[in-house]
Amino acid sequence: MIRITVWNEYWHEKVSARVAEIYPRGIHNAIADFLKENKRFEVQTATLGDPENGLSDELLENTDVLIWWGHKIHDKVPDSAAERAKKRVLEGMGLIALHSSHMSKPFRLLMGTTCTLKWRKAGEKERLWNILPTHPIARGVGEYFELKHTEMYGERFDIPKPDDIVFLSWFAGGEVFRSGCTWTRGNGRIFYFQPGHETFPIYYDKTVQKIICNAAQWCAPVMFKRLDCEKVEPLEQIEIIEC
Ligand code: ZN
Repeated sequence: MIRITVWNEYWHEKVSARVAEIYPRGIHNAIADFLKENKRFEVQTATLGDPENGLSDELLENTDVLIWWGHKIHDKVPDSAAERAKKRVLEGMGLIALHSSHMSKPFRLLMGTTCTLKWRKAGEKERLWNILPTHPIARGVGEYFELKHTEMYGERFDIPKPDDIVFLSWFAGGEVFRSGCTWTRGNGRIFYFQPGHETFPIYYDKTVQKIICNAAQWCAPVMFKRLDCEKVEPLEQIEIIEC
C-alpha cells in the first residue's frame, strides 16, 4: 500500500463561490476521490487549519507521498512545518507539488531557487506534450493532451535543472512551460505538475487524474532513512595514524 496525504491550504473554496461550485468539498477531496479508486492507495487529506497545520510529525511519518495544493496563503504555513515536510522528503517521502504550489514553502526549500515564473489569467488553451513517454509518470498518456481553459504559466521557470522533464506545455498566447518535472532530493522523489487552476475543473480531467496517480506510484519511497554524516570503523585492518 502507498499511504498518500493530500494537503490543501483550503482557502479559495471558502471565499470564492465559483471555486466552491467546482470543488464543493475542497480541492483536496476532489483529488482524494480519484486516488481512492486505486486499491493500492491509502488516502487521507489534511489542511492548513488542521492541528499543526496538517503537517504533524505523526502524520508525516505515516505518509509515503505528500500531494500539495496551495496558492494564496503560502506564507501562513509556519517555517517549522515546511521544514518538517522537507526533512521527511530527504528521508524518503515523495512530494507532488501541484500548480501554484511552485511557490509553496516546502517546494522552494527543496529546490533552493525562487521558483518564479510568468503567469496570465486568460482562460486560454494549453497543450501538454508528453516528451518522455518511457517515464512511468507518462504511462498511458498519449503524445499530447489539451486543457481547454487554464491559467498560463510561462518560462522562464526558475527551478534547478530537473532530473527529467516529462511534460512540456504550449499555451494559446504563445508561451511554453516545463509543466511536468522530476527531481530527487536526499532519498525522496519530487514531481511538479502544472495543471490545476482553481476556477477550472481541471482535477476532473481523466488524463490529469491518470498522471497524478502515476506520479503517486513513482514518488513512493524505496526506503526511509535519515541521512547523517556517520563516523564509521574501517572494514579492513589498517594502520591508524594521528590526523
Ligand atoms: Zn492558478
